[in-house]
Amino acid sequence: MGIYEQFGVTPIINASGAVTRLGGAPMPEEVLNAFKEAARVSVPLEQLQAAASKVIAEATATEAGLVSAGAASALTLGTAAILTGYNLGFMERLPHCDGFPNEFVVAREQRSGYDHAVRAAGARLVEVGFNEIVANAGVRRTEAWEYEAAFGANTAGVLYVYSPTSRPPLEEVVDVAHRHHLSVLVDAAGELPPRSNLKSIAATGADLVTFSGGKSIRGPQSTGILCGRRDLIGPAIAQLLDMDDHFGLWNPPTSLIDKTKLRGIPRHGIGRGFKVSKEEIIALLVALQLFTSGAYDAEVSKAHARLRRIVEKLNGSPAQCSIRDKGDGESLPLLEILVDEEAVGRKAMEICQSLRNGVPPIYVSHGGLSEGKLLINPLHLDDSNTETLAARIRQELEHG
Ligand SMILES: *Cc1c(COP(=O)(O)O)cnc(C)c1O
Repeated sequence: MGIYEQFGVTPIINASGAVTRLGGAPMPEEVLNAFKEAARVSVPLEQLQAAASKVIAEATATEAGLVSAGAASALTLGTAAILTGYNLGFMERLPHCDGFPNEFVVAREQRSGYDHAVRAAGARLVEVGFNEIVANAGVRRTEAWEYEAAFGANTAGVLYVYSPTSRPPLEEVVDVAHRHHLSVLVDAAGELPPRSNLKSIAATGADLVTFSGGKSIRGPQSTGILCGRRDLIGPAIAQLLDMDDHFGLWNPPTSLIDKTKLRGIPRHGIGRGFKVSKEEIIALLVALQLFTSGAYDAEVSKAHARLRRIVEKLNGSPAQCSIRDKGDGESLPLLEILVDEEAVGRKAMEICQSLRNGVPPIYVSHGGLSEGKLLINPLHLDDSNTETLAARIRQELEHG
């Protein structure tokens, strides 16, 4: 009996990839071994985060970094750092921002559920711009001048959600923000691979950038990265770490926290509930080293072979298969199964539900259901569960 069955929980076949609600990415053996070894010894967390900062700074070509409890918590910490700097009084007041600027300007078209993490620190979002192309009401999207026009005495910073198609380009937003001495916080949680994004996003001059540790990096699901300016990473880490010490004894590494900027030791900060364990930090660092070295690239061709195997097994059933591949040699391909809903007599949504209800439960990616598509992400597939998955989908398509 497996460990989950011992506790009455049934493992699933995950064909959705590194999604949080299904437990994230598979951790490589090296990462699991590192986690186990790190758990056996005690270390001061500030020293460990300082070591992490070095590794992250090198991987991202930034000044400093920290390991957070996921990219969402990095967004809260980054927002907190931009709001407070090293001001002890402001840190103590969060999430209330009475008496200091707390507005973050964001493009309306970049709003999502994840920006709750920014608001959680105390920031108030001020939306600008329109996506008139999506609205079918014009030809333009958000433009940089619209950020500038919204800046005022209460503006604290800018939130930018990065994707290759985000508009306006990040460089333009950084430029207008910096002209007004405002910091830009970038959510790039899911923007790896390509691994070049580790450096290229921060290279725009963006002040803080976040990545998930539990997606393509394959670290613990509960980790993330915040990287960027040292004078912001310091206040961020000061609001994350446990602060139960005496000011005189407290000796945080100078590469991480500039103690000379503080007249006392902060109390537990807004991020104290987002603590990251020593094992998680080490595991994330090992995973980051694997990711940056290209160790995962070899899996792209294996994933292709598995998806082709599914296509083969579905040959002749009422669906059209196509494999989507970015072709960058790093990103895993995706299999798109366009269900002939009329021939099958059921909607893709019902098939998706039926796959979840079966034994073992199968969770396909549900981003294309409204177009009649089941999507297969191969991240968690091996040769054995690929066969089960293909057989079950074929059965759903043919016999319902
Ligand atoms: C996944 C994701 C997050 C949250 O990342 P976690 O590491 O799960 O906290 C935030 N923003 C975007 C755009 C994401 O895709």
